[in-house]
Amino acid sequence: MQPYSYKSMVQEAEASLVLSGKDRGIAMLLLEDLFDISRADFLLDGEEPVRDDEHMQFRGVIDDVISGVPYQYAIGFAWFFGEKFKVDAHTLIPRNETEELVEHILNSETDDGRTVVDIGTGTGNIGLILQNSWQNNEVILTDMSTEALSVAMYNAEQFSISPLMLAGNMYAPLIDRGLKADVIVSNPPYIGYNETDEMDVSVLRHEPHEALFASDDGLGFYKEMIDGLPEVLNFGGAVYFEIGWQQFQPLQQYISAKWPNTRPHLKKDINGNDRILFFRWED
Ligand code: SAM
Ligand code: GLN
Repeated sequence: MQPYSYKSMVQEAEASLVLSGKDRGIAMLLLEDLFDISRADFLLDGEEPVRDDEHMQFRGVIDDVISGVPYQYAIGFAWFFGEKFKVDAHTLIPRNETEELVEHILNSETDDGRTVVDIGTGTGNIGLILQNSWQNNEVILTDMSTEALSVAMYNAEQFSISPLMLAGNMYAPLIDRGLKADVIVSNPPYIGYNETDEMDVSVLRHEPHEALFASDDGLGFYKEMIDGLPEVLNFGGAVYFEIGWQQFQPLQQYISAKWPNTRPHLKKDINGNDRILFFRWED
């Protein structure tokens, strides 16, 4: 009998993916993500035999994907800003839109010793990329979920950095320690409880609801953070929020009513949707 080759393994996986209505390209992607075998390597060496443990691992991920588990959870990591981030059931899968938030902050803030806080850090994707890109600014990562912070801790180790990580509700861990920031960044939960009909079923079924949903049509956490600024942000400091596509207008009004001298700005994402709300806080 011919030894079982990478080629047979990929062909079988592609056939099962197609049969279950999934993208067949996942098989080649997985080959690269799991074993670092590129398309070019595959064309050259596809007939090479596969080790049993590799086959089991590969098949396990394909079966999970077929049963509806998002690819990143099945494989255990997600790419964000060109880096690999561990993800698990306690963390949101980092989104492409959020890369645009990170890029905008890197373009806007100078690296001159600022204290920057990432509220609701999840895998740490925002805060760790920022900290890894800066030499002088200090980034603090917070989350309500200690499980998510463990994942962020693991990811920090991969960058060989050890930023301060604090567990707790929104600003509470900063207030407890008397910490004040120059920059606040957050991609909080912002989906309204009435929006489940419009959501992707796999997001709803597999991603942590504590990372997705917020009260007040998804505006609850923003309003709480806007109200609490005097306790945690140095005067004139900056705020950057990722927001949902319909949230700029109501938040703009809310900010103007609360802090009349503050001018909220909007940046759209690559798809033309409202996505980043940012401002320098003046009361
Ligand atoms: N920052 C990550 C990103 O951009 O992909 C994760 C964002 S996810 C939308 C929101 C995060 O906020 C989750 O990790 C969740 O655990 C955290 N969270 C939810 N409620 C919170 C609260 N009351 N205080 C602090 N963090 C909270
Ligand atoms: N952008 C995510 C989604 O649409 C939601 C993330 C969030 O609530 N911050 O699934």
